[in-house]
Amino acid sequence: MSTESYEDALEKLGELLSKKSDLGNVAVAKIKQLTNELEELDSNKSSDAVERIKSGFIHFKTHNYEKNPSLYNALAKSQSPKFLVFACADSRVCPSHVLNFQLGEAFIVRNIANMVPPYDKTRHSGVGAALEYPVTVLNVENILVIGHSCCGGIKGLMSIEDDAAPTKTDFIENWVQICTPAKNRIKQDFKDLSFDDQCTNCEKEAVNVSLGNLLSYPFVRERVVKNKLAIRGAHYDFVKGTFALWELDFKTTPAFALS
Ligand SMILES: [Zn+2]
Repeated sequence: MSTESYEDALEKLGELLSKKSDLGNVAVAKIKQLTNELEELDSNKSSDAVERIKSGFIHFKTHNYEKNPSLYNALAKSQSPKFLVFACADSRVCPSHVLNFQLGEAFIVRNIANMVPPYDKTRHSGVGAALEYPVTVLNVENILVIGHSCCGGIKGLMSIEDDAAPTKTDFIENWVQICTPAKNRIKQDFKDLSFDDQCTNCEKEAVNVSLGNLLSYPFVRERVVKNKLAIRGAHYDFVKGTFALWELDFKTTPAFALS
């Protein structure tokens, strides 16, 4: 029900009751009944969510935690993940599922359209901190940026008119414009493709922009130069069930593709 029609309904009820005051008792009884029904609906909804959370943890604890005491004893003391992964927040692309990472294997940063912004202490301190800690403290050896099929963030980026200031959203348009260089390249190089195909290409090119942006962080660049840190891009296609992986060499040709 829209806000407007809800307000209309309340207004009509008010009018009716003011005209026919003898309906008051009936109205009170009906409103009580409605309140009870709505409360029940609300508590069912929240108890569904609570049940799902409880059963999820119980499943994890019995099937995983209690079966791997040595792993969890070790993880209780410290973590030394080999991977730092940037993935989209999209519910369909969880890297732990897609790449079968176990707990402790991958430090994961998820945001809209798996973007790494350029080094900027004030604008992007959230991503900067999530990059600095695993690189400088945990000494991860690999950074992997994973794009994916049907990415809404990339579609949003590709939909922004060239000279239009973002107006439709509070945050999303500003955020995805981190990868405007990818959008510009795709619009120029693939102008004959359909919008959907342009988006698919942009999903991959935006990963390359992020790989380039990673090098704007001095602590990343330094380790890459010393061969202590490898940077790779990837694209997970959940429509086709394929995963393409490439090295930091700004080529979109996959180093190898799994299908
Ligand atoms: Zn996405």
